[in-house]
Amino acid sequence: MSVHRIYNFSAGPAVLPLPVLEEAQRDLVALPGVGMSVMEISHRSKTFEDILARAVADMRELAGIPDHYKVLFLQGGASMQFSMVPMNLLTPGATADYIVTGDWGKKAVKEAKKVGTVKIAATTESGNFTRVPKPGELQFTPGAAYVHMTSNETIHGNEWFYVPDVGATPLVCDMSSDVLSRPIDIAKYGLIYAGAQKNLGPSGVTVVIVREDLLARSTDTLPAMMNYRIEAENGSMYNTPPAFGIYILGLVLKWLKGVGGLTAIDAINERKARALYAELDRSGFWKPHADKDCRSRMNVTFRLATEDLEKKFAKEATAAGLDGLKGHRSVGGIRASIYNAFPEDGVTALVQFMKEFEKKNG
Ligand SMILES: *Cc1c(COP(=O)(O)O)cnc(C)c1O
Repeated sequence: MSVHRIYNFSAGPAVLPLPVLEEAQRDLVALPGVGMSVMEISHRSKTFEDILARAVADMRELAGIPDHYKVLFLQGGASMQFSMVPMNLLTPGATADYIVTGDWGKKAVKEAKKVGTVKIAATTESGNFTRVPKPGELQFTPGAAYVHMTSNETIHGNEWFYVPDVGATPLVCDMSSDVLSRPIDIAKYGLIYAGAQKNLGPSGVTVVIVREDLLARSTDTLPAMMNYRIEAENGSMYNTPPAFGIYILGLVLKWLKGVGGLTAIDAINERKARALYAELDRSGFWKPHADKDCRSRMNVTFRLATEDLEKKFAKEATAAGLDGLKGHRSVGGIRASIYNAFPEDGVTALVQFMKEFEKKNG
């Protein structure tokens, strides 16, 4: 059986690897040896415990996560982490430093302010978030509870290519849109979180990687569902976990291992991004948003001369089987999201489409 799949440039929920969808489809009605769907079995069953343990182990292997970090699968999306991070880590009387490089960082700040004292360590908003700050621009509070950053701003299309030096302060990173897209040194972070629906799986699961010593900050007065320590003590099973999402996430991790892990996907992501930016730089017809040294490899954002032309571009692209290219409603323009699972030939098809579009409209 063959079905027609278009090229899906959606920013999230985003394209999943075809082998993952095919395996899920094949086993949807009955998991081999189980005779029931993964959606129908107890999360306390051996079958599901194995699925969860496998996903944690593969996550650890792929990202090289040291033993003194916990891997949690939670719900509520990355947006719930905007609250959980300060509720757990912002100790009374202390300040949390936030580096703001786009709308997601701004949302994180807004929620943290409801919990405690927040200082902006740097923001690139005055330049419309075309870049991340340089090391010299970062102003940290001595003794801050943590520093928060967003490694890839999905809406504006900027990405960090260095890890800020925060000294002994725990670094907290929202990696929702570039997690596992390249090798990572986990030891540089205190806590990492990522909603799954960009690079890891379907929506409904959020991955949290947290250094164990930070769990001591989670007080008993927190709602249990918002408490990292309780989630860690219960192996992400304080309540019913998002079982189907964890299952699919597990398949994505298995797929990523098959591709060759983070070094291999890094090279593929680099090739895809380079091909697309080369077209954007080829002529003045395209106006790429981010500065060259901060260009996201996951979300390629650009404008055309007029909004009408952008509308025409997105519409004709969709008709040509290239879907999801309309930019985020808050910034407009065009956004091509080319996460891990986005196929290389889809980038080739887009570049070809762009050349033809320019010929007709340039
Ligand atoms: C999508 C996204 C979010 C929000 O994720 P939800 O799971 O919808 O809450 C937060 N941060 C970044 C960087 C994102 O890309």
